Amino acid sequence: MIVGVLGGGQLGRMLALAGYPLGLQFRIYDVVPEAPAEHVAEFLQGDFDDESRLEEFSRGLTVATYEFENVPVRAAEFVASRVTLHPAPRALAVCQDRLAEKTLAAQLVIPSAKFEAVESASDLAAAAARIGFPCMLKTRRLGYDGKGQAVLREPVEVAAAWQGIQAAPAIVEQFVAFEREVSLIAVRSASGECAFYPLVENMHRGGILRETRAPAPGLEPELQALAESHAARVLEELQYVGTLAIEFFERGGELLLNEMAPRVHNSGHWTIEGAATSQFENHIRAILGWPLGPTAAVGRSHMFNIIGAAPNTPALLAVPGAHVHLYGKSPRPGRKLGHVTLWNELDEHDRRIEAVRSLIANA
Ligand code: AMP
Repeated sequence: MIVGVLGGGQLGRMLALAGYPLGLQFRIYDVVPEAPAEHVAEFLQGDFDDESRLEEFSRGLTVATYEFENVPVRAAEFVASRVTLHPAPRALAVCQDRLAEKTLAAQLVIPSAKFEAVESASDLAAAAARIGFPCMLKTRRLGYDGKGQAVLREPVEVAAAWQGIQAAPAIVEQFVAFEREVSLIAVRSASGECAFYPLVENMHRGGILRETRAPAPGLEPELQALAESHAARVLEELQYVGTLAIEFFERGGELLLNEMAPRVHNSGHWTIEGAATSQFENHIRAILGWPLGPTAAVGRSHMFNIIGAAPNTPALLAVPGAHVHLYGKSPRPGRKLGHVTLWNELDEHDRRIEAVRSLIANA
């Protein structure tokens, strides 16, 4: 059985690594050579608008999926016309567009920060005045890791912010004074079975995820149930198959949807060591229509992204319970090169968190 993956980043690499014990083969497609997944699977380089190359990719696949939410919907539709593709292109279309995503949330009665669509500087000025300052301007498409965003503190900042996002179609949304950011990894299989991992707490800096605590400290069953009920409505509405990540702002016992990713997610990397079944294995099980594995956390985990600078691997490995994952990328400021999951059931956990943190110089 061959699983095709559109996108050859670290997520594709970890999907393949999770699938090999199940006897699967992987074929990866990416625009750029030397993608992290290239080293662990059959690799096809091609543009997303090259239909003959996509045809070649699709040939003989059991199922196809994607690990990158900016795969053009047309490319996904082309592959879906040749072979089963999960999640379906509609999920990709919704998650690529912040306006579509937040409109869907509103339809499903999932709270999110108040927002308006903006298409011009004058739209922005008017919408920001209605929403109130501070507020956030975000491009509808291609924004990730804090890119294509600006915080507006007062009306005089409107013109520069609009120029800053190069007049791209955008939304403006209320600035949320959240207590913390949490995310839920949800999975739905082709047979309709759903599973949810425990909510985790995410710490961002400069718009980039730095650390994840799993489960989220002090997680109450009510909050978990609320997140699951929000996610279940999305899964059902999209007839979603695969792993879906939903990021929320937690504020006063409420969860405001920030954004969704139709794929395995950085805030779920801890599941490799810290959960009964990893998000990667469950994604594969889901798209093949196989039974999902249990999603319970085993002990506590703390995931650290390794960003910009290569770590001292032996020093990290000397910390008991530290698991190092490197993606085979060359260092560049702001680039995710790998992650470390500190998995521990012991009281020493907090001291070791400090030890690992001090060994990672994020650039
Ligand atoms: P995003 O790309 O939407 O995930 O935004 C990146 C980060 O910016 C988030 O993880 C938050 O830390 C912050 N952020 C985004 N939207 C808001 C908002 N409406 N209010 C406050 N902070 C936000």
